[in-house]
Amino acid sequence: MFIPKRIIFEKDSLDYEAAKNILNKFKDKEDVEIINITSNKLKQHIPGEDFYAQYREGKKTLVVGTKKSLKFQSCKPSAHYQLPLISGCMGQCEYCYLNTKLGDKPFVKVHVNIDEILSQAQKYIDERLPEITIFEGAATSDPIPVEPYTHSLEKAIVFFGKHENARFRFVTKYNDIDSLLDLEHNGHTEMRFSINTSSVINKYEHATASRDLRIEASIKAAKAGYPIGFLVAPVFIYPNWKEEYHDLLLSLSKNLPKDLKTPVTFEIISHRYTSTAKNIILQVFPESELPMSDEERKFKYGQFGYGKYVYPKENIDEMKQFFIKEIEDLFENKEIKYVI
Ligand code: SF4
Repeated sequence: MFIPKRIIFEKDSLDYEAAKNILNKFKDKEDVEIINITSNKLKQHIPGEDFYAQYREGKKTLVVGTKKSLKFQSCKPSAHYQLPLISGCMGQCEYCYLNTKLGDKPFVKVHVNIDEILSQAQKYIDERLPEITIFEGAATSDPIPVEPYTHSLEKAIVFFGKHENARFRFVTKYNDIDSLLDLEHNGHTEMRFSINTSSVINKYEHATASRDLRIEASIKAAKAGYPIGFLVAPVFIYPNWKEEYHDLLLSLSKNLPKDLKTPVTFEIISHRYTSTAKNIILQVFPESELPMSDEERKFKYGQFGYGKYVYPKENIDEMKQFFIKEIEDLFENKEIKYVI
């Protein structure tokens, strides 16, 4: 669970129940500073002389506000729309896309006008009837570490549980899911867990849950009847990578319930980076050991028009063969969505 160092309440946020609950939870904690602001000058309340320091202080900051624009962003190909409940994440994964996307605003922001956000989702669902509309809850965040006190996902899961023509999905690297287990989800929310080997987690995914805690949480979600999936990402090639990824998948297959109603899905994504991301990563993590030598990679134009450095074709082919064989051998009721 995310325990912030400071919480900034934006103007009017405390009109909402969810903000009052957050205030009540933290107001008597000596080591949590509560700041109320009436202007938009958020950044001046987060210390840090340079990008490096602002990142670290930002990651310890929770901002409580409302989502003003209720025009949802599209979220292709995995969903139709992003559900804008939360942005940012307490984690400090060196390769995280949020480092580039959020730049000097790395704080976690929760939107407390949840009922308005869900009413807007209703409009989008109605527009697409009788088609099913899919919403993604983790496009710009990991929503789980704040869930114990925001209850945002809880509201969304119950909302989507009542809709035959809507589905909800999110992905996490955390394990604070206990409050979601007994909800009436009706199988309409898919929980995905981003997993990796302990070597990768310990080296690059700072302030996230351990491999085994994530696996334990995924088992609980499966037992609670949620459709579940795993993002094995990013996959790195390093000495013993095959042994360690085998061990990870074996541990999952041994522990997952055998009577899953829906296939467990796998999305396998090899490590890649853009030049912009590399520059930002090296400012925030100057000692980073992420493998980012351009000479060792292949430059490839992506679907969004900018280029990425990906593993060479022979490495990607080897990964594909390895993961497809492992997953075929170890899991019965499964679907491999892609290995890229
Ligand atoms: S847990 Fe996910 S969202 Fe958070 S820093 Fe790591 S990669 Fe980024």
